[in-house]
Amino acid sequence: QLDTAFLKNAIRTVPDWPQPGVMFRDITPLLQDPKAFRLLVDVFVLRYMDRAIDVVAGIDARGFILGSVVAHQLNVGFVPVRKKGKLPFTTIAEDYELEYGNATVEMHTDAARKGDRVLLIDDLIATGGTMMAAARLLARLGAEVVEAAAIVDLPELGGSKLLRDAGLEIFTVCD
Ligand code: IMP
Repeated sequence: QLDTAFLKNAIRTVPDWPQPGVMFRDITPLLQDPKAFRLLVDVFVLRYMDRAIDVVAGIDARGFILGSVVAHQLNVGFVPVRKKGKLPFTTIAEDYELEYGNATVEMHTDAARKGDRVLLIDDLIATGGTMMAAARLLARLGAEVVEAAAIVDLPELGGSKLLRDAGLEIFTVCD
């Protein structure tokens, strides 16, 4: 049985960052602890090693850290879902709502091909807007999101429910 408490305890909550009232989940202590980082990667690798994943898509920026290691261990490629204006080649873009204002994520048009089985990874699901926009990008490329996975779910913000209601399979390690 997975010791999720160990991983959860390795995540730090920083009050009032980046603004008053926000309880920010900081995964840097987890990454810093070699046992916790290894356990986290192993959880993902064991979960997806027999799921015929073709490519891992990681979301800017903490999704890159976990996503690239998982991709390497699954022996598949890694592609970035980036914030607007960072990718040099031909891109597609999706806008989404933030609590204040909106944001845009982009992918290269050749990041996934029609029928590719993609594992989508970020560090955290809050309102689900970022993950949803990333899933829309992959859908436009004709790829199949096998699962949208994150380390932390904040279920009180409703994001994971929103994503499930939209037909995505969701996996998170702790809340
Ligand atoms: P959402 O789009 O509202 O689900 O927000 C998720 C995105 O915002 C992810 O890319 C996270 O990295 C980032 N995020 C929001 N809140 C936190 C937090 O408390 N800790 C770390 N990242 C967060």
